[in-house]
Amino acid sequence: VQAKPVNVQALVTDALQSLKQPIAEKQLTINADVPDDLAITTVPAKFSQVVRNLLNNAVFYNRKDGVVTVTAKADEKNLKLSVQDTGIGIAENDQERIFERFYRVDKARSRHNGGTGLGLAIVHDMVLQLGGDVTLNSQLGVGSTFTVTLPLTDLPSFYKG
Ligand code: ATP
Ligand code: MG
Repeated sequence: VQAKPVNVQALVTDALQSLKQPIAEKQLTINADVPDDLAITTVPAKFSQVVRNLLNNAVFYNRKDGVVTVTAKADEKNLKLSVQDTGIGIAENDQERIFERFYRVDKARSRHNGGTGLGLAIVHDMVLQLGGDVTLNSQLGVGSTFTVTLPLTDLPSFYKG
């Protein structure tokens, strides 16, 4: 597996592009605050999957006329990327289980969304593999913010060319 420099803005734009239709149907407002020169050396397919799964949820579990805000910035060592939504939110007692495989908050409601309950488990696996972590801040009925922290260049040695 090869790590490569990835432009974060281009990757976010791509991910949003593939959600164009559900975004339009829900009439969501998308705010993206990502510097155009922000890059990370990582495994592109894995990083892309993380961003896609988070954006997918932010769109899917949002309300009509809701907002999705994507923010990315770097400190000396890490990229911090957060995806914030104005969706249904996640109750506190569900928050600790949300990264488990097949865990879905409301099975009856989630089932007809056609998901599998794997999206966040994949996010969690991938960020750990890439040497980072993911945290959740959410309030029921208000919205959720998922924040991913990933090393800008200092990947686990397994990925180094
Ligand atoms: P898929 O495998 O298609 O992603 P999924 O969306 O159900 O299916 P996850 O992405 O792992 O699976 O999410 C697990 C559960 O967490 C969801 O079923 C939903 O109940 C809850 N959830 C995830 N993201 C959000 C969010 N942004 N706002 C509210 N609830 C969420
Ligand atoms: Mg999902």
